[in-house]
Amino acid sequence: MEENVLEVKNLSKFFQVNRGWKTPQVVQAVNDISFQIKKGETLGLVGESGCGKSSLGRTILRIYEPTKGEILFKGEDISRLSRKQMLPYRQKLQMIFQDPYASLNPRFTVGEIIGEPMDIHNILTPSQREKRVQELLETVGLKPDHIRRYPHEFSGGQRQRIGIARTLALNPEFIVCDEPISALDVSIQAQVINLLEDIQKERGISYLFIAHDLGMVKHISHRIGVMYLGHMVEMGKANDVYKKPLHPYSKALLSAEPIPDPKTAKAKKRILLEGEIPSPINPPKGCPFNTRCPYAVAECFRQMPATFSVDDRQVACYLYSPRYLRQRENLSIEPLLNKEVKETAC
Ligand code: SF4
Repeated sequence: MEENVLEVKNLSKFFQVNRGWKTPQVVQAVNDISFQIKKGETLGLVGESGCGKSSLGRTILRIYEPTKGEILFKGEDISRLSRKQMLPYRQKLQMIFQDPYASLNPRFTVGEIIGEPMDIHNILTPSQREKRVQELLETVGLKPDHIRRYPHEFSGGQRQRIGIARTLALNPEFIVCDEPISALDVSIQAQVINLLEDIQKERGISYLFIAHDLGMVKHISHRIGVMYLGHMVEMGKANDVYKKPLHPYSKALLSAEPIPDPKTAKAKKRILLEGEIPSPINPPKGCPFNTRCPYAVAECFRQMPATFSVDDRQVACYLYSPRYLRQRENLSIEPLLNKEVKETAC
């Protein structure tokens, strides 16, 4: 993993909503987010529903127009390109959707569905296209003679494989996987994850893998980013974030992850967050997590914390600012971080 395939700099996406109010309201779905993804790397993106993960994925692919910031694909700024100028990039930047039932047109055969992107971009002759579709079906573990069947003849897992084959049709280099396994049975989820990993190893594709909990992304991701109310609050190596989350929100999210072994689950403490997620139309002043954070200090209500580096980790929280870190050296970090947390057995 060396070169950056994708780089996002200070990316924001705001939506204007008019619901009978005199002044239009603005939803701050994605707010000042920056990161890079290297060739062959998977960045897992987690956070509760409505935190802006899917909006971020769609803005990167230019399905939504960015409000501010830059999107660089292999060093080229694609954030302001016209539809026509975007066409060659559309082949390289693809998306796998959440719902394999809704994302496949039931009136099309599997061959037509997988071949459609090749038609749109006008590549390959009809016979070449048929051969390519059959190869893609084999790549995703289906049979070449499935080409003339319809989506309703397949199970959920098989339909997601068809969706993946369609995504691969144009040889993409970067794929946004938008909760690709959350609509599938648990028994099928691991198969789809393994397939995505095998494809990545073979083709060196980079993934932005969106899921709503850390457990789902920990196996496939090299790094994990945690989002809250449109902001990236923590980012680091998958194992580090999973084993020892630093941001108070990441700690709460991880503590809520279900554990299959009943003994371990019983011993595990769960951090209960009080209050609702604030509205992205009217986010709190200062840190977006200050209304629910058990560690909030006066500074947290004044302005948004900067993103601080802690070893290999980026954390947007005042508790990791040099000033607080100095205090913690004297006090010891864990007592400060644990003193007011409300914990309850799962
Ligand atoms: Fe909590 Fe303050 Fe850190 Fe935000 S900046 S997570 S409110 S301690």
